[in-house]
Amino acid sequence: MAEASIAGIAASEGIAIGTFFLRRKVSGDQTRVAGTMSREQALFESALAKASQSLAELMARIDASAAEILGFQFELLSDTDFLDPVFQLIGVGQKADEAWAEVIDGEIADYAAAKDEYMSARADDLRDLKRRVLGFILGTTADVFEVPEMTGLVLAATSLTPSEFLELDLGKIAGIAISEGSPTSHVSILARARGIPMLVGCGERLTGLKPGYVAVIDTQNHQLVHDPREENQSAFRVRLQTSNVAIEYASISAHLPAVTASGEHVRVYANVDDPAILLGIDAANFDGIGLTRTEFLFESGQLPDEEHQLAVYRRIVEWAAGRPVTIRTLDAGGDKLIPGVTFLDETNPFLGIRGYRLSRIRKDIFTTQLRALARAAVFGPLKVMIPMVTVSSEMDEFRTLFDEVIMSLQNEGVACAVPSLGVMIEVPAAALNADTIKADFFSIGSNDLIQYVTACARDNALLAHLAQADNPAVTKLIRIVAATGMVQGKEVSVCGDMASTPALVPLLLGAGIRSLSVAIAQGPTIKEVIRRWDGREQCGDGTSA
Ligand code: PEP
Ligand code: MG
Repeated sequence: MAEASIAGIAASEGIAIGTFFLRRKVSGDQTRVAGTMSREQALFESALAKASQSLAELMARIDASAAEILGFQFELLSDTDFLDPVFQLIGVGQKADEAWAEVIDGEIADYAAAKDEYMSARADDLRDLKRRVLGFILGTTADVFEVPEMTGLVLAATSLTPSEFLELDLGKIAGIAISEGSPTSHVSILARARGIPMLVGCGERLTGLKPGYVAVIDTQNHQLVHDPREENQSAFRVRLQTSNVAIEYASISAHLPAVTASGEHVRVYANVDDPAILLGIDAANFDGIGLTRTEFLFESGQLPDEEHQLAVYRRIVEWAAGRPVTIRTLDAGGDKLIPGVTFLDETNPFLGIRGYRLSRIRKDIFTTQLRALARAAVFGPLKVMIPMVTVSSEMDEFRTLFDEVIMSLQNEGVACAVPSLGVMIEVPAAALNADTIKADFFSIGSNDLIQYVTACARDNALLAHLAQADNPAVTKLIRIVAATGMVQGKEVSVCGDMASTPALVPLLLGAGIRSLSVAIAQGPTIKEVIRRWDGREQCGDGTSA
């Protein structure tokens, strides 16, 4: 075969070289003859029971937050509203597998037709459930996950569902490429958390490639290269080796503080969007947690109750072992839609009811979260911040709400504590007026700040050339916030992707930032960049640091 390159979207950063393997699709037994109506019904019921049992077993084997992702599927298996139409179709003479496929395909189409990525992630979960139940009806389950007994595989598939990913023997997998999917799907989150390089959105050509050839996943250049020419293969191997050496080198000093060449300590915190990522990570490698995106709690299709949230927050605080932990309250809205929570009919969701704007309206959800946070604050130094703040009165209102929560917990005799309360700076108005906001700390959400300063929706790939992090206008705002923090003696960190991008870190340090919150896998590398910084780099606005 000749070298072929296929473009994809980076969902989990890294470079992988291995043997191209195409995952076999479930092939249903099309020749199965329909049994009697009651036999088809019994077959379907038994498939549901087996699917529930296999999901429960899988959920018990994996960590709690990954299990939560499967919880959505598990619930559906006993949801009569969802299952009744299948029994009705069987009742009028359809085979169990056909009835199941017809009903769930309709649901999948509805979810997939929704434009936002949250809904299409739900469609993936339904495809997963469809495959699982079909496997039990048709007796094909055994070979669904058949992956060869070899390591270093570059796994390609049309789609990959969360439970399929979790059932893979990751020791065999060097990297993954998927024809469909989006970087914000659950599978992408799981791959990132486990450091498996992954491309999504590779298109149909991907599954036309022949297995057994060498393939390279190169997320830096957003491509999969199949059967690379000898010289290209060598170049990829050199890059992989260099990247491994750099990662290994950086990891030797990962537990040491990041001190600049001039002797300044720069705090490096971890970003957490799924607590599973903390498994096996030494808390000593970070100065604490600078951002916990709590949206993961709301992704199972059910609102998490106070006890559940408390357990999760407490686990994170205990992991940090005395280091500060920053938890962001629910940041739903914009591109993070949660059915039943967010407003679905906004014409401009990024400029709409999102973040704190939504929380103050959905007081029921917000109060539950604040109660759980106030209770978690008993177990260690907790910081709580609200996203999408525009004006100072929002912070004042938040403080009042928190005081009320504390008061009612105290009245109930429930142990609680007041955490440090901060705001995310991601709206230009908040950056310009930071000096008026009475927060205990600021955390700059550069992802959103960039989209609002450059007027480019962050989910629009066609505007990527305009939505540049090094635009001097962005740096000017970051400087303003850093200077405000300096004058008022408040910590200002950056928790957007800029902080995890080695090339942009000197710019942030030059703008006066001394706290970064980064993707966990990037921690050691960012610390190395800080250690090499001599304070002389140019800032994004053309001035010298
Ligand atoms: C940001 O906007 O930079 C940020 C950290 O928040 P999110 O990416 O979750 O919107
Ligand atoms: Mg944001």
